[in-house]
Amino acid sequence: MAERTHETIESGTPDPMPYMHPVMKNNYGKWVYHSHPKPGVLYHRAANGDQVWTVKAGTQRQMDHYTIRKLADIADQFADGYVRFTTRSNIEYMVSDQAKVEPLIKALTDNGFPVGGTANSVSMIAHTQGWLHCDIPGTDASGAVKALMDDLYSEFVNCEMPNRVKLSTSCCEINCGGQADIAIVIQHTKPPKINHDLVANICERPSVVARCPVAAIRPALVNGKPSLEVDEKKCICCGACFPPCPPMQINDPEHSKFAIWVGGKNSNARSKPTFHKLVAAGIPNNPPRWPEVSEVVRKILNTYKADGRPWERVSDWIDRIGWPAFFEKTGLPFTKYHIDNWRGGRSTLNASTHIRF
Ligand code: SF4
Ligand code: SF4
Repeated sequence: MAERTHETIESGTPDPMPYMHPVMKNNYGKWVYHSHPKPGVLYHRAANGDQVWTVKAGTQRQMDHYTIRKLADIADQFADGYVRFTTRSNIEYMVSDQAKVEPLIKALTDNGFPVGGTANSVSMIAHTQGWLHCDIPGTDASGAVKALMDDLYSEFVNCEMPNRVKLSTSCCEINCGGQADIAIVIQHTKPPKINHDLVANICERPSVVARCPVAAIRPALVNGKPSLEVDEKKCICCGACFPPCPPMQINDPEHSKFAIWVGGKNSNARSKPTFHKLVAAGIPNNPPRWPEVSEVVRKILNTYKADGRPWERVSDWIDRIGWPAFFEKTGLPFTKYHIDNWRGGRSTLNASTHIRF
């Protein structure tokens, strides 16, 4: 029997070492310093004198195989065939010969891939799957990101912000969105509408009841059929009941809106990680270019750019100037809905497996 040489790995990240540029592999853990020669380029020097330049380019995120082949051809021509993708779908080329750096940058920009996204620039926007891949989105996160990226192109290729700015979008409020300096999140504003004819056939009612964070869903008999009902006074319109029970339709072209949150940070570099806070809500979900979203993001970015001190992330800047000044300087309206200190959240949010009615 032939020896098995390959085991299928169903989960987990693959071992990166076989894909790593030889200079990086040989010097793993032996780097002595790094610098940032220009936007989109990082330089690392190893203890033995080896050098490597990393050139970062933005992609359009959802890529067809022609584009991926084009990126791979550029890697073969200028970067010894090695690339890596970042978590924000930038592509990075590693080059051990300085003479190849500028031709690589030219090849990328000539093919429409902007070089940038390093240091104090606006990095590529993280987005969730949207209409292309997911079954529950309230909007197309990738479309809103494309419109925004077009608008923020110059902030990606230049390093003019006080510090790094990370943006993210989420097309529902409950699953794969993340903390970011500026986060764009869909927000439902009306409770779900239930199609009682379908609930019994499609939904596992106990799991839908258990899913609600504020225990607003109850089993009910409607027109003689087993169904569900929602206590609309309790419902916080989170949309968590919709994935396990599509007949609880919550997406609505008019009442599903965009909200913008600021000051989130995942890393603990220089200051501790922070949760982002809501600063604008009720922004129309207006495809295909979502201009109202771009306008608010621009407003926040421009204010931060003008007012932030060097090295301040958005959260540090707001900590220094205070929330009243944030709203004054950005010109965003402040309403009573912005205040929530979650006092009492322990008893009102569903934090245990017990179901309370
Ligand atoms: S954020 Fe929600 S709707 Fe969007 S891809 Fe993730 S799970 Fe799907
Ligand atoms: S899961 Fe969310 S949207 Fe559904 S009923 Fe509960 S609070 Fe309302």
